[in-house]
Amino acid sequence: MRFQSLILRMDEVQINDKVFGEYLSEEEIQARVKELARELDVLFRGKRPALIVVLKGSFVFAADLVKAMELDVELHFIRVSSYGNEMESSGQINELIGLDADLEGKEVIIVEDIVDTGRTLDWLIKTLDSYKMASVRTVTLLFKEDAYKYEIPPDIIGFSIPNHFVVGYGLDYAEGGRGLRAIYQLKEE
Ligand code: 5GP
Repeated sequence: MRFQSLILRMDEVQINDKVFGEYLSEEEIQARVKELARELDVLFRGKRPALIVVLKGSFVFAADLVKAMELDVELHFIRVSSYGNEMESSGQINELIGLDADLEGKEVIIVEDIVDTGRTLDWLIKTLDSYKMASVRTVTLLFKEDAYKYEIPPDIIGFSIPNHFVVGYGLDYAEGGRGLRAIYQLKEE
């Protein structure tokens, strides 16, 4: 097989045709996820928020987040895509799996793995507007501050990162690398 995932060194991985270097270690990610969980526990104390997990990339982050949270939560999933197999956003957002949840009167938390230009999040918030939620907040593990095109940033941010392509911890490159425990950044050729 010509293209596959391959660990080159402890801090380097090859996915398909590209080499990535470790950027955030498993320990750094896990420590930050616990802090985010605590923040959400405090913010929603006494309530049972409804988490909307944005597939596919957020599934690893969401799983660790709900395990680290003490509050009981509702879980819902939506799948949107804007990237295809390329490393540039296509600019077009497709809802692939719709939301069938009753969110009326609920405290909603949108869970994102990464916010880049912010188009996906903006589209989601507008789309969810008709659901008559009590409140909607956004949490993202990664935030590409310099690429972001909107005024108001996500409410809760794990790490602000530079505008470089990353994989691992749920994030893919052409569907590879999602199971990596650390987050890796594309190495310049
Ligand atoms: P936005 O709509 O904010 O520009 O892009 C959001 C989506 O683009 C994310 O949910 C993710 O699927 C994808 N994306 C943006 N930056 C990266 C990146 O560095 N790595 C990967 N794997 N996906 C990214």
